[in-house]
Amino acid sequence: MTADTITAADSRINARWLIPVEPFGIVLEHQAVILRGSRIADVLSQSEADLKYRTRETVNLDRHVVMPGLINLHGHTAMSLFRGLADDLPLMTWLNDHIWPAEGKFVSEPFVLDGTRLAMAEMLRTGTTTFSDMYFFPEVTAQAAHDAGMRAQVCFPLMDMPTVWGSGPDEYLRKGAALIEQWQGDEYIMPAIGPHAPYTVSDQPLKDAVALAERTGAAIQLHLHETAFEIDEAMKATGSRPVTRMAELGVLGRNTQCVHMTQIDDSDLEQLVRSGAHIVHCPESNLKLASGLCPVQKLMDHGINVTIGTDGAASNNDLDLFGELKTAAMVAKVVAGDASALSAHRALELATLNGARALGREQELGSLVAGKLADLIAVDLSDPFLQPVYDPASHLVYSNHGRAVSHSWIHGVPQLQDGRLTRIDVPDLMLRVSEWRQQILS
Ligand SMILES: [Zn+2]
Repeated sequence: MTADTITAADSRINARWLIPVEPFGIVLEHQAVILRGSRIADVLSQSEADLKYRTRETVNLDRHVVMPGLINLHGHTAMSLFRGLADDLPLMTWLNDHIWPAEGKFVSEPFVLDGTRLAMAEMLRTGTTTFSDMYFFPEVTAQAAHDAGMRAQVCFPLMDMPTVWGSGPDEYLRKGAALIEQWQGDEYIMPAIGPHAPYTVSDQPLKDAVALAERTGAAIQLHLHETAFEIDEAMKATGSRPVTRMAELGVLGRNTQCVHMTQIDDSDLEQLVRSGAHIVHCPESNLKLASGLCPVQKLMDHGINVTIGTDGAASNNDLDLFGELKTAAMVAKVVAGDASALSAHRALELATLNGARALGREQELGSLVAGKLADLIAVDLSDPFLQPVYDPASHLVYSNHGRAVSHSWIHGVPQLQDGRLTRIDVPDLMLRVSEWRQQILS
C-alpha cells in the first residue's frame, strides 16, 4: 500500500478483544475501531489499520474488550433520588403507600434534573450509552440528556389521574405533543409516548395516544402484564386480559414497547407475535417486587424482539445493565428449565442490537459496524475478579460488574475515560443529591 491509499480519520481505538454483536456470536482479537466524526468509519485488524489509516488520536485498550454501548430500554431516571427509600414491599403497596406520596411531595423540575443527572452518571459509569425514560417533566430529562450528550428515548407520562406534571390526560397529551414536536429528528433525543399502564389509563386517552403515535411516528412504551394481580383486576373490570384490550385499542404494534410481560398465556403470545410489538424485560424489578418472571426464551423462540431495562432505581436498586444481563440470563434458564436458554451472546444482543430494534434505529445503533453511530464502550478485564480470560463474552454476562467499564463514546464523543466521567461534574452532583436526601428525610 502506498501513501496515497492512507486515509485520515479522527480516532483509532485498539482493542485486545472486540465483540461487534454483528455478526452474531463472535469475539475478535487485536482489532481497531476507526472513528470519523460521529460515526464508525471502519472495524479491522490492527495490522490492516496500520497500513490504511492515519488518525489524530489513538487509544490503546490492550487489556479490554470493546463492544457497542448498552441500551437500557426502561427506567424512571429521576427516581434514582428515591433509591432505597422503600424496599421489601409488593408493587401496589410500594406505589400507593410510598412512591406516589413521595412523588406528590417532592417531584419538581429541579428534582427531575438532579435525579436524571444522578442516573446518567451511574449509567455512563456502567456502560449504558442510550436509555429510555418515563417520568414527569420529560422536557427537563430530554434537555439534561442532550446537555450531557447521552442518547435517550424520553416517554412523556400519560394517565388518568392528575400529577405534578398535569391535570389529566388532555394536558399530558398536549404537553407530550409539544415535546415530540420539539425533539423529533434530534440525533440524541427520541421523544415517545408513555401510557403508564392499562390500569391507570382509560380507553379514550389510549386511543388519543395511538393517534398521536400514528401522526408523529413516535413510539409507545407502557407497563403491561407486570403482575398476576393486574390481570385478575382487569378480568373483573373489563372481562378481557390487558393485552387483548390493548390490541383492540390499537396500542400494540411495531412501534410499541411492552415493559415487563411476566404473565403470558397462549392468546397473549399470539397477539404479541401478530402485532410485532417489542418486549422490555426488567428481571430485577420483577424479582424484587415479586411480580413474576418473563419467559424470555419462549418469546424469542416465537420471533418476538426482546430487549432489557433496569426499571427505576427505586425498584432495582441499581442501573447497572451488566448486572441486569446476568440476572436475565439466570432467570431465563430457570424459567425455560434449560441451562442453554439465553446464552451469553444472546444476552449481550438483548442490551444492544435488540434495544436498537425496539427504538427503530437498528441501522444506526446496537453493533460495531462501519457506518453506524460511534456509541461504544470498553471493559477492562485485568481485575482479579475477571481473570483468567477464556471467553470475554462469558465474563461480560456472568462475571462482570458494570464498574469494570472503563471507557465510552457516544456519537464519537468520549464520555468516560479510564473510569472518569468527562461531562458530568460528580462532586457538584453529590452535593445536590445529599441536599435532596436531607429534604426527603425531613
Ligand atoms: Zn417501570
